[in-house]
This record gives sequence, C-alpha cells and structure tokens, in this order.
Amino acid sequence: MQIGLFGGTFNPIHYGHLRAAKEVCQGFDLEQLYFIPSALPPHKNNQEVVSVVDRLEMTRLAITGNPEFILSDVELKRPGLSYTIDTVKHFKKSLNTKVDLFLVMGVDAFMEIDTWKSFKQLFQILPMIIMTRPLPDGRPHSLEWENMTAFIQEKISRSYQFSVKDGCYYHNRHHPVYRYNISMLEISGTKIRKQVQQGQSIRFLVPESVENYIYERGIYA
Ligand code: ATP
Repeated sequence: MQIGLFGGTFNPIHYGHLRAAKEVCQGFDLEQLYFIPSALPPHKNNQEVVSVVDRLEMTRLAITGNPEFILSDVELKRPGLSYTIDTVKHFKKSLNTKVDLFLVMGVDAFMEIDTWKSFKQLFQILPMIIMTRPLPDGRPHSLEWENMTAFIQEKISRSYQFSVKDGCYYHNRHHPVYRYNISMLEISGTKIRKQVQQGQSIRFLVPESVENYIYERGIYA
C-alpha cells in the first residue's frame, strides 16, 4: 500500500492544493494522502497565520467526500515548532511497515528544504514527489526543473542523477525524488487572504464550504 504525506500551512486550503493532491494520488497510485496542517510553521510570518484549529477545520471541510484524503492533527498534538522530520518519523513508526510512504510537496517548498531541520535525513527515510507550481512572473516551469537539478546536487548530494525515462532523481544510497507535472493553478494562500482583505470574491479558488467558513468566522478580513 502506498500513502502520501502532504504538509502545509493551509492558510487557507485551496483548489491548488486539492487538485495537486488528486493528480498525485492518481499518478502514483496512492491509496491515501494525509493532509497535515502545520501547527507552528517555522518558515511563515506567523502573524498572518490563523489558528491551527481554523486551518484544520477548513481542511476537514475541503476534503469531505474524498475518502482517500485524510486529515491529520499530529502537528497540533506536538508541542513547539512543527518540523517535517518529526512528522515523517511519527508516520514511519505508527503505520504498518508494509506501507510505502511518500513525502509530497510543491517545487517552491522543495527549493527551501535546505533550511528545514535535519533535511538531509529526510532523503534517507522516504521518497519524495515534487510537483510543479506556476512561477509568479509567468516564467516557464522548465526553469524550475533546471534549478532543481542544480539544487539537489549542490545541497543534498552530487550523486543524485536524473532519469528522463522515470522523471526521477536516483541515488545509490538515498531515496528517489520524483518530479511531477501537474495542472498549473495559480492559486496561493497569499492571494486568497489578500482578496478577502480587499473585499473581493474568492469563489472558485476554494471550496464553497471553506469560503463560507472564512466569512462566518470573519478570518482574513
Ligand atoms: P502561502 O501563499 O500562504 O505561502 P501556499 O498557497 O503556498 O501558502 P502552503 O500551505 O504553504 O500554501 O503549501 C503547502 C504545500 O502545497 C506546499 O508544498 C506547496 O508547494 C503546495 N502548493 C500550494 N499551492 C499550490 C498550487 N497552486 N499548486 C501546486 N502546489 C501547491
């Protein structure tokens, strides 16, 4: 059985996350994908991040009706900053040893991985799936992949070599890192928060249940 771990601030969760999750599940035959909202994200401006309770609830609403998507509150239960390495170790320990785990993230997140706690260890623990994400100024995403090759070889290990056939970086001792082209949806939490603040509609950027929750709770206003 193959299971994905998809962490994020989800401030709020939006269709960029949801469509990406669906395409990765289909592309990699993942039977389940855990959405793991970060309780205290180490790399975000925490003033802009609404409470983890609200972010968990919006995520729950957004994934309702998709049995392969599972909400995890593991980072809420752990005190202190939310580090991916701790979350990955938690799932490795708690899930059946026959499960193949994959860490899923966008290429923007991957290109900052060298700032994460014990990041090199992650490559020794599990394979990763790295998804395309539109560049803000419309540059072609082939550029992201070129940068990624330089990045993975400089920051992680020179021995990572790309296989065009498999769309994957392989290493003789570390786990593979897959590159995956998904539908490009130029949606971000930043954009949604700004739209709400400016009184503009966020319809079709987030599920209606999330939109209603945002207005009912008056968050991001
Ligand atoms: P913010 O704008 O607040 O920084 P965000 O929209 O980038 O937020 P996060 O919760 O920080 O969302 O992202 C969680 C994960 O989802 C990251 O790995 C990120 O790369 C990925 N992701 C977010 N939006 C998209 C998108 N539109 N397409 C593909 N991946 C995405």
